Amino acid sequence: MNAPLPLAAQIVAVLRDVTGPGSVPLHAPRFSGNELAYVQECIDTTFVSSVGKFVDRFEADLAAFTGAGHAIAVVNGTAALHAAMLLAGVQPGDEVIVPALTFVATANAVAHCGAVPHFADSSEATLGLDPVALGAHLAEIAEIRDDVCVNRTTGRVIRALVPMHAFGHPIDIAATVELARTWHLVLVEDAAESLGSTVGGRHTGTFGRMGTLSFNGNKTITTGGGGAILTNDPELAKRAKHLTTTAKQPHRWEFRHDYVAYNYRLPNLNAALGCAQLEQLPTFLAEKRRLFEKYRAGFEGMTGVRLFAEPAGCRSNYWLQTLILDDDRAGERDTILAATNDAGLMTRPAWTLMHRLPAFETCPRMALPVAQSLERRIINIPSSAILGSSGAA
Ligand SMILES: *Cc1c(COP(=O)(O)O)cnc(C)c1O
Repeated sequence: MNAPLPLAAQIVAVLRDVTGPGSVPLHAPRFSGNELAYVQECIDTTFVSSVGKFVDRFEADLAAFTGAGHAIAVVNGTAALHAAMLLAGVQPGDEVIVPALTFVATANAVAHCGAVPHFADSSEATLGLDPVALGAHLAEIAEIRDDVCVNRTTGRVIRALVPMHAFGHPIDIAATVELARTWHLVLVEDAAESLGSTVGGRHTGTFGRMGTLSFNGNKTITTGGGGAILTNDPELAKRAKHLTTTAKQPHRWEFRHDYVAYNYRLPNLNAALGCAQLEQLPTFLAEKRRLFEKYRAGFEGMTGVRLFAEPAGCRSNYWLQTLILDDDRAGERDTILAATNDAGLMTRPAWTLMHRLPAFETCPRMALPVAQSLERRIINIPSSAILGSSGAA
């Protein structure tokens, strides 16, 4: 009997089988609809910049798709997070709880407010924030004083909780909403990766006081660069628009600004791209789900690794398909990353945990056993929607 192939070679074989030949990126955007026509219209009408009908339409289409009361389009997902945290009342010297396992934008936005990120552990079941472990941690270190949550060990107010739906998979949102209520934390969902993901039919980013989206080039839909704030509160939506558009009072010719605000508005040119992309989102989501099924068939029965599937009760957009190595195979991660990338199949590990980045080394954190384990075991594999289209290999 032949010895089985090394795990790295087995993974390369499955990826190649599913993706077909050639160099395969991790996540490529796809422009197969009205992109060119809408962008051309911006150029023809000269409405390429900060006003134009595509911005209004993109916001209305986003609200309709997500079921959020309001969507406010901004320049990128980081700006959306920054503005949402300011609107949540985050002040300099506050703490904001974010997962240690996230893209750096979540922690950066806290720092942009002059606040301090406080890192929380992840759940093996969702890859996102673990509300049960966080609840136990808060019970240890925090107390409610005059209606606000105070970290007894640092003396700082913990103002907000900003979980993230990692790789598009929804977190345990019901328990997280309850936790935020118990501890008087404003809940802002970083839904940058989860456009199209739902829990019990309700869209991620609509459970908290606010949610934020990103339309960067590698996300499920792209506007080149872009983001949005979601909220169900009409007053908050107005404040979000004002804060992200230089706090200018509406007037036919006067330049009056209420306070120091931000120029975070999304240009019409980018919104035009977004409108065309949003029209195709249902197709992209169906293709990404089909890609998951192809990978599932390929990885079924392989020992040492499993393909992450959407948590029970949730529908994931499968933004980035994720392999999780067994604990005793974590040592093979870099061999697998090298073998796949050498073969022209772009794969990536999870982000370096936030508390190990120089900027955030000294920030408060809970014990992070699951995030640390996941960091050693996660490999994201090629995930473009086109790979799941019926025409693909
Ligand atoms: C993409 C992303 C963002 C926002 O990134 P931008 O590039 O600023 O649009 C924020 N949080 C997470 C988790 C992301 O993946």
